[in-house]
Order: sequence, then structure tokens, then C-alpha cells
Amino acid sequence: MRYMLHLYRTEDETGISGTGFVADGMHFDDGTVVLKWRGPTSSVGVYRSLDDVRAIHGHGGKTEIKVCNPLNCECHGT
Ligand SMILES: [Zn+2]
Repeated sequence: MRYMLHLYRTEDETGISGTGFVADGMHFDDGTVVLKWRGPTSSVGVYRSLDDVRAIHGHGGKTEIKVCNPLNCECHGT
């Protein structure tokens, strides 16, 4: 299965990324996740699995991983 996803941050601990949608990504068949961060210092990260993303960026639940439905997603227009 392959799908698009977003990282949605409810609280900004670092003061750098802000809150709301902070990254857009793609989840590939073998588990690999590619994330592109939003914002002026945008960078791209590659992770072995969704669990790794959660472990590195989850901040104890303050950053949620949202699956994107391109036809109906809050990421468009917010
Ligand atoms: Zn979306």
C-alpha cells in the first residue's frame, strides 16, 4: 500500500516549525517514508518506517500522522 500523509503538530516545542501541517510525505510499499517539511527552511527526510517517524517526530503525541485523501483532505485550503 502506498499513500500520502502529513505531519500535523498540535503544539510547537521548538518554536521553529510552528503548529498545524508541518510536513507532507509519502509512505511506500516497503515501509519507507519520505517527508518534505514545510516552511522557509524546508528540508526532505527519508525514514525506514512510520514507526521511526513517530519515534523521532512524534513528541509524545503532540505531532500526529494524518493520512491524506487527495480528494478530501484538510491540508488543502488551510
Ligand atoms: Zn492532505
